[in-house]
Amino acid sequence: MVEAADGCISYANIASTSLLGMPLARIQGLPLGALVESCAATDLNGLPLPLEAFPAVRGLRGETVSGSELRVSRADGSSSVLLCSTTPLLSAEGTLTGAVVVLQDITARKSLEQEKNAFLSMVSHELRTPLTAIQGYAELLHLLASRGERLDAALTLRFLAGLSDQSQRLEHLVDEVLDLTRLEHARLVVNRTHHDVLKTLTQVVESQAASSRHHLHLVLDGLQPGETLQGYLDEYRIEQVMSNLIGNAIKYSPAGGEIEVGLRATPGASHEALIWVKDQGIGIPPAELPHIFERFHRAGNLDRSISGLGIGLYLVKELVTLHGGRVWAESSQGAGATFYVQLPLNQGQEECLAWEQE
Ligand code: ADP
Repeated sequence: MVEAADGCISYANIASTSLLGMPLARIQGLPLGALVESCAATDLNGLPLPLEAFPAVRGLRGETVSGSELRVSRADGSSSVLLCSTTPLLSAEGTLTGAVVVLQDITARKSLEQEKNAFLSMVSHELRTPLTAIQGYAELLHLLASRGERLDAALTLRFLAGLSDQSQRLEHLVDEVLDLTRLEHARLVVNRTHHDVLKTLTQVVESQAASSRHHLHLVLDGLQPGETLQGYLDEYRIEQVMSNLIGNAIKYSPAGGEIEVGLRATPGASHEALIWVKDQGIGIPPAELPHIFERFHRAGNLDRSISGLGIGLYLVKELVTLHGGRVWAESSQGAGATFYVQLPLNQGQEECLAWEQE
């Protein structure tokens, strides 16, 4: 509460001490000008505000202000965004006696808003790249057709492959964003069925090898080609995990590079599989290794022209965890990276059998 007579704070509650970063004894009786100065209050862009623009000062001029946002800095170096509302106080005779100021700390909400905006602009940027390419192919085809020019078979194939690649990239980006939203709303569930993990992995390796210029090898340990490795897993989601890891190995290593995809079966009581994807690409700096599975994290050694949302590994980790498994990476910068996925193969089956028997 601010007095009209002297422009000093006549009352402040205990919550204001943490918002303003000052003891109550200092706030009470402080002139508004001194308060604004000691909080180094600015607008949200960090530009200093003239004293007369502050809600409390406007309140003393008889104005009602609601929802004005400002940034304050405290002596300890921390800063907050405050939502500030003011209303003038009038006596029974209608004379202005002061103003009541209400402050609310909205720092968390603001940073969430900023994160959301940064995410939206990153998604729009990423979506625009394949869209522009698709548009380019379509316009070229349209131009040739309008001139009555015939496309030879080789060029037609190249255009079609380009269109298909770019639409797949678009689809992948949209799927990643949708899965992220599902995860955030706890709507991503795994639908386990019995299936052959080796067959799924072989299919992913073959399809990725067909569309890339890298050399992909499948290495088996404890298994023979053609054997089956039964798992009680969500086939679609496990395929997604494998595709993401192999896709990254391709994306972050030079064309023609060797990529080893491995599967080790460990039979027995802890019936589980270990899958690894090893590349000879740019690697991951040691300081970044603990962070690469975090949402939106992209390592600092990347050439930023390599597209990506920083969601793929986060999804991999969440999907593997939903299956009761574990994922980790080993790497040294410039010497390639190896990602490991350890998957229990029978988890969830006992509960399902018990449920079926009931
Ligand atoms: P995106 O590839 O879209 O950036 P991901 O979540 O799949 O997002 O990966 C997060 C980050 O981890 C990447 O930006 C990259 O810095 C790093 N990374 C992932 N896989 C590899 C890899 N095989 N080699 C080097 N760095 C990798």
